[in-house]
Amino acid sequence: MSIKEKASTKEFPEIKEYHATSCGIFFKRKKLLCTKNSPYQKIEVFENEYFGRILILDGLVQTTERDEFFYHEMLVHPAFVAHPLPQNILIIGGGDGGGLKEILCYPIEQVYLVEIDPLVVEVSKKYFPWLLPSLKDKRSKLLIADGREFLKETDRKFDVVIVDSSDPVGPSLPLHEKDFFEDLKNCLNPEGVVVTQLGSPLYHLDSITKKNIFLKKLFKLVFFYLAPVPTYPGGSWCFAFLSDKVGPFAIKRNPPSGLKYFNLEIHQAAFALPAFMRSVLCKT
Ligand code: SAM
Repeated sequence: MSIKEKASTKEFPEIKEYHATSCGIFFKRKKLLCTKNSPYQKIEVFENEYFGRILILDGLVQTTERDEFFYHEMLVHPAFVAHPLPQNILIIGGGDGGGLKEILCYPIEQVYLVEIDPLVVEVSKKYFPWLLPSLKDKRSKLLIADGREFLKETDRKFDVVIVDSSDPVGPSLPLHEKDFFEDLKNCLNPEGVVVTQLGSPLYHLDSITKKNIFLKKLFKLVFFYLAPVPTYPGGSWCFAFLSDKVGPFAIKRNPPSGLKYFNLEIHQAAFALPAFMRSVLCKT
């Protein structure tokens, strides 16, 4: 029996995410676990036979049980193996807790999780096994707040800031703009590092290129790196590693044991960019 025939033997409804007007990804929905509307977005969790539980915000895949490790390990570990002493950490967005669980692998002092939507946190606590234990860790501080406003008002300084925002629409839009990154820079300790997700190098190269222009004016060190994320548009995802003092290549510590994707060879390789990215990002 071909894969196509096997797939059609169980008739589950199809959930489609469009990546451009003519293409995208689909999942068979075995079971709908939750659908809620918050003031910020539509939140859905459903079960797929292959990927397990899938969190969708406004129709866009945020995380799946089966492939979350690609994204969350690559969002967090590059900054943590390179920073000399990561102690005070900030995550903006990331209410599903996948980034938080990776950060808590290190002997940090404190991590603030600043998520705008309490319903994302409630739903993720119920359906994704990693969030509740991470929030119970006494080093975690959950703040339900707009990350943009938090940065304007805080006088705290951080060693590592992880921006785990959703796509640049709705409440996430300000997290993709220049003045947000200016405020991010101001809340860093001198050896601080910011990592932000930037989207697909295939579908979002224009917005990555625009950010590159202002990021290079703001930070002395700007590096881009890539990771595979099977359920995100294009299957490959771009991140920026930003700092005034700390580059990614002088390794300060080993990653924790038990990771599924990240290791120090992957770390070095991830910063190698394909020719089509180099030609637009490395000329400025
Ligand atoms: N990288 C993942 C992706 O693009 O699929 C992002 C996952 S995480 C669930 C994104 C989170 O950012 C959401 O829970 C959303 O509520 C939160 N968020 C959006 N705008 C925000 C803001 N202004 N301040 C804090 N959190 C925000």
